[in-house]
Amino acid sequence: MPIQKTDQRININDRRIINGKDADVIQLYPMKHTFAWDAYNAGNANHWLPTEIGMQLDIEQWKNPNVITEEERRAFETVLGFFTTADSIAANNIVIAMYKHITSPECRMYLLRQAYEEAIHTHAYQYIVESLGLDEGKIFNMYREVGAIYDKASFILTFNEGIFNPDFSTGTFENDQKFLENIVVFSLIMEGIFFYSAFAVMFGFQRQKKMVGSAEQIQYIMRDESQHLNFGINLINTIKVEQPELWTPEFQQRVVDLVKEATVLEYTFAQTVFPKGIFGMNADGFKQYIEHIADRRLNSIGLASQYNVQNPFPWMSEAVDLSKEKNFFETRVTEYQTGGTLDW
Ligand code: FE
Repeated sequence: MPIQKTDQRININDRRIINGKDADVIQLYPMKHTFAWDAYNAGNANHWLPTEIGMQLDIEQWKNPNVITEEERRAFETVLGFFTTADSIAANNIVIAMYKHITSPECRMYLLRQAYEEAIHTHAYQYIVESLGLDEGKIFNMYREVGAIYDKASFILTFNEGIFNPDFSTGTFENDQKFLENIVVFSLIMEGIFFYSAFAVMFGFQRQKKMVGSAEQIQYIMRDESQHLNFGINLINTIKVEQPELWTPEFQQRVVDLVKEATVLEYTFAQTVFPKGIFGMNADGFKQYIEHIADRRLNSIGLASQYNVQNPFPWMSEAVDLSKEKNFFETRVTEYQTGGTLDW
């Protein structure tokens, strides 16, 4: 849309996440969606780079079959194989699909930061693969070769079709719901559910004092991802306020159905990849853990719990539980202002 020569200032009440009036995305002010600005600042304060983390101990442990068992090796590689795919899919969705439809300049600011963080995450996997001398062709191609990863990746990618279409635009009831569905799938499901059994496995390594350099990088990634998830939840909840007509009972049911489908895919992934369990986490534990996480995600956008189960991995709540994440950001952010180090 061309710029109009005018003395009129932009009215903050015209600002919207999507479908903002005149869609003026050039000026940052007046700033309505301050959660996006807060997320942008938190992201900057948490800045890190994979190459800052020493990998020498990991390299020695990986070489030693007495330290890392055959089963652990397979688990480590498969988890890495999933991660490599997930962050690239996320980056593509932000840059190619989401960004141009977002009419809030401050949300766009955060998306720029988020897209860079997804690149840093892919860099982290590359750095781990290179440091340990893993077969990069094998790890980075796992989403095509390993059924349980393929199923998750293709579930996500089927939702790209509408939004990735260059002719797609928001502004109709149907397309706005489609866009909202995209945020649900990419943020709530991929960043909020599909990472979590892989996170659990990496923290399992860490608890055994194994592959601690790799695990530390995954902790940084988890911190970034929980911020991505919180931003996605804020997008959804704000669109619900700005365009309440979209949040129909049918749409809510659709979200619940998608989350339930994803929950099955995620615990099936864990059960297939770790058939005998790993680090004390067994098939039932993974199922219950993912169901617990799924309920938390549904609750975060005002939908009812579907499973009502306890968290079977209470130690995980210290590291990745969403209720702790909020606390974590409120209490720890200032500690990262100087160097972005991880100390928890
Ligand atoms: Fe992300």
